[in-house]
Amino acid sequence: MAKCQKCEKELSGNEIGLHKRLISRAADSYMCITCLSKFFGCTEELLKEKIVHYRNQGCTLFTDED
Ligand SMILES: [Zn+2]
Repeated sequence: MAKCQKCEKELSGNEIGLHKRLISRAADSYMCITCLSKFFGCTEELLKEKIVHYRNQGCTLFTDED
């Protein structure tokens, strides 16, 4: 299981997908949604909305898990 590069929390598939989508598809280490929200200076809620948005677009980086 991949872990957050900053806080070492275990990552969900959607957190990895979000990191790839927002930062780099070629990334080989990832941040959790909390650290991503700090990195971008936005709320976790906004990032969760983005996951739903990308998933609804059919982006294969995201799954139905939470
Ligand atoms: Zn983290």
